Amino acid sequence: MNKKSYYGNFGGQFVPETIMNALIDLENEYEKTIDDKKFRDEFQSLLKDFVGRETPLYHAKNLSEFYGHNIFLKREDLNHTGAHKINNALGQALLAKRMGKKKVIAETGAGQHGVAAATAAALLGMECDVYMGAVDIERQRLNVFRMELLGARVISVEEGLKTLKEATTAAIQAWVNEVEDVFYIIGSVVGPYPYPKMVKDFQSVIGDETKKQMEKYGNTDCIIACVGGGSNAMGIFSAFLDNEDTALYGIEAGGKGIDTEEHAATLSMGSPGILHGMKTYVLQDKYGRINPVHSISAGLDYPGVGPEHSYLFDTKRVTYAAVTDDEAIEALLLLTQKEGIIPAIESAHAVAYLKKLCPVLKEKKNIVVNISGRGDKDMHTVFSILKGGEIHE
Ligand SMILES: *Cc1c(COP(=O)(O)O)cnc(C)c1O
Repeated sequence: MNKKSYYGNFGGQFVPETIMNALIDLENEYEKTIDDKKFRDEFQSLLKDFVGRETPLYHAKNLSEFYGHNIFLKREDLNHTGAHKINNALGQALLAKRMGKKKVIAETGAGQHGVAAATAAALLGMECDVYMGAVDIERQRLNVFRMELLGARVISVEEGLKTLKEATTAAIQAWVNEVEDVFYIIGSVVGPYPYPKMVKDFQSVIGDETKKQMEKYGNTDCIIACVGGGSNAMGIFSAFLDNEDTALYGIEAGGKGIDTEEHAATLSMGSPGILHGMKTYVLQDKYGRINPVHSISAGLDYPGVGPEHSYLFDTKRVTYAAVTDDEAIEALLLLTQKEGIIPAIESAHAVAYLKKLCPVLKEKKNIVVNISGRGDKDMHTVFSILKGGEIHE
């Protein structure tokens, strides 16, 4: 057993024999590459001039006044392509190029990771196939078109619930079939080792910047981030994990309520199991079959979570909670109308937690909310909710 691949009891490499060699190659190449100055310089320079980093840390004065605490927004929504996903997609695509691969593949839910991977592939001159559930293709037409414009092929996945879980399974299968020639760009801190570590490393720029940007304000008391697979959360948490004076909150999709069967609150309601090559908390029935999940936001609609989050949940270093679809939409409207910032519905889950957290904090605190992405891709969803007078899709 590869000990490094575990976070406490979670993680590992639960994959077919044929993929083991590819994972070992990837790990070796990755370990060499992250310490390589040329790679780091190229990555840094792209993050700066192509992605537009560093992203601002914005002191949201109106929201601060509303809640009675100092609220700061980490503006990942201002990244090129509209979310934090590009940090990781570029890192992995650069690594793929270095390994001599001509083609990358990716899975996508909301389409944000697909767009990020297609963007990186266009930039670096590689072929790109994106696996996407048929239901998500329907919900996210505009992102599908963006991927196609960027030169990627979007492959519709018709199995099961036709969302992110099935798309990931299809991408893994495609990888097994062409493992010599293809690099699989995973979109979150999930999958078999070394993916959870690699994606965390590429996203840790969010936490590193936040830590520096918060210096002039004093202690960072609380950080809130939404958790689908967990990459934007892991990215911003990474720089603060060793600092016990910073309370960390991971917010999952409570869908129509965690007392219903329509949610994606993996840590709040799940149990340890195996999914997509990793041991982690999953939503499953008593036979270990993965449950159907629901969230209003395609990016949080996943029945698993990165293994390090499972570890941080068990050790209680991070507090995980769920907010419902309705609460997320309410928060989206609040942020939009108080600050003039329309967040992605995923990010609105993190904003929604302010309403629960702020009233129970005894003194005035410095709270950072990670705005993982912008709301453009969700406008049709929000439109149909508000115009239809109904919150649920
Ligand atoms: C994909 C996505 C998420 C969820 O993914 P994580 O890996 O949990 O970060 C959150 N917010 C936005 C805007 C996304 O596109």
